[in-house]
Amino acid sequence: MRSNAETHSPSPRVGAIIVCAGKGERTGLEYNKVLHYIGQKTVIEQVLDAFSASDVSRTVVVCAPADETRIKELIAPYANVAICTGGDTRAQSVLNGLKALPCDIAVIHDGARPFVSPALINACIRSAISHGSGIAAVKAVDTVKRVIDGKVTSLPRSELYNAQTPQAFVYKDILHAYNTARGTFTDDAEVYERAGFSPVLVDGEYANTKITTVGDLMLTTPVGAKIGVGFDVHRLVEGRPLILGGVTIPYNKGLQGHSDADVLVHAVMDALLSAAGLPDIGVLFPDTDGKYLGISSMLLLDEVSARISEKHSILSVSAVIMAQAPKLAGFISDIRKSLCKRLKIDEARLNVSATTTEHMGIIGSSDAIAASASCLLTEHHG
Ligand code: MG
Repeated sequence: MRSNAETHSPSPRVGAIIVCAGKGERTGLEYNKVLHYIGQKTVIEQVLDAFSASDVSRTVVVCAPADETRIKELIAPYANVAICTGGDTRAQSVLNGLKALPCDIAVIHDGARPFVSPALINACIRSAISHGSGIAAVKAVDTVKRVIDGKVTSLPRSELYNAQTPQAFVYKDILHAYNTARGTFTDDAEVYERAGFSPVLVDGEYANTKITTVGDLMLTTPVGAKIGVGFDVHRLVEGRPLILGGVTIPYNKGLQGHSDADVLVHAVMDALLSAAGLPDIGVLFPDTDGKYLGISSMLLLDEVSARISEKHSILSVSAVIMAQAPKLAGFISDIRKSLCKRLKIDEARLNVSATTTEHMGIIGSSDAIAASASCLLTEHHG
């Protein structure tokens, strides 16, 4: 075994190369799978969260030119993360990443493995520092058959491991291996082996799966989704502003209430609290408490958002405003933006519609406005 483990300093510079340049055609998505949302974050953000919490000091995300704009937006909040352009093959993409990130220890990781833990990343790094490489691998669970010309041979399962990423190496060794590599390879350790090195395995994690197929994406859909429903109605009176979803609507009447009486926000809050298993707004913000007199419901929404986000992420919110007048169609877009901004979610996750009640009842006579909201929450991973 060739190893240069003895040649580097006690505090090596550790760089990570996250490979995201694949097309991911087997997922059936029309976009790169690293941009797929799992809960409130994309696959690539979950990967970067794990790497940010590890001993890696700098990261480069290797991506296809078509994804650069979106990936630049997603990496913006992370310190010491840059992007570089991928190549036609995974090997070319890794080589581009290595050249873009000179370091002492290089950790190579598939962008489509979002469940990697910081502990596993660090274990691979430690192995590379001590032994020249550290390859995450798990013992094979299935029996593997080799088929050559129709003849089936069972391979001894006790000798077999499934290689994962991260795979960590002494930088100059893996750079040399990629620079001299010829042929096709399925992982970095294979390139390293072909250059004459002996990779060292590190205990991987079975949860550290790679998203490859549509089925894998279905498995990432949270099974613990919780539904919530909220409803509210307030009387329309003269001498009050009309505020819906934090947006002031020009009208000669407004909603009566202890707070600003934002009936839409009240319904949304009750839906979120209900799904999270928390008490409703009548309990949390009682109208007998003077501190809520005239308060903006958006401030109450901030508090509800903080409470539910301790354990939950918002998958989806859908709300309907029931009002005979005024006409709300022209304000829906602003209302939607206002709520999304406050809840810190993409507009794809929240929608608002409006309806009349065909002049029937207290809403139809323009004496009241009601709102109903539904939501789906998921509990955080771990
Ligand atoms: Mg209310």
